[in-house]
Amino acid sequence: MPESLPFELAGGCTCRTVRYRVTREPMIVHCCHCRWCQRESGASFALNALVEAEHVQLVHGELDIVNTPSASGKGQKISRCPSCRVAVWSNYAGGGEAIRFVRVGTLDAHDRLSPDVHIFTASKQPWVVLPDGTPAFSEYYQASRVWPPTSLERRERLRQRNGH
Ligand SMILES: [Zn+2]
Ligand SMILES: [Zn+2]
Repeated sequence: MPESLPFELAGGCTCRTVRYRVTREPMIVHCCHCRWCQRESGASFALNALVEAEHVQLVHGELDIVNTPSASGKGQKISRCPSCRVAVWSNYAGGGEAIRFVRVGTLDAHDRLSPDVHIFTASKQPWVVLPDGTPAFSEYYQASRVWPPTSLERRERLRQRNGH
């Protein structure tokens, strides 16, 4: 999408109490095939768009933030609708509060976003066939090897602002 056009995607939970909008294109879209994401999604992978917190705005409703164990041991905070309990995004210890992992399937037009990288493919279900040409890693990966330069710059700005 050209940088000149305003980017906006709306999304929300199933009961429509929670509505939000994403106002900047994701830095990266992860398709995570780890066992934790398989369990939490009830399916075979999770699709997360990584966007700066200030570009993921709650426009209706409130969020229930649930501290949830994570593979790293540091936990993740999953933001859920208090009524229907659907998860709309989460924050991991690594990115802190600054980066929201938006659950792509909760976007109204989630067809717009497809995975930029497949991670933790060591536990990928064998019937999930990955496309040629999309980077894939058996575990986690180095952003510097995959992210576009503009996304790395955005992450660097977040780090400077948050002092780490
Ligand atoms: Zn809801
Ligand atoms: Zn995962």
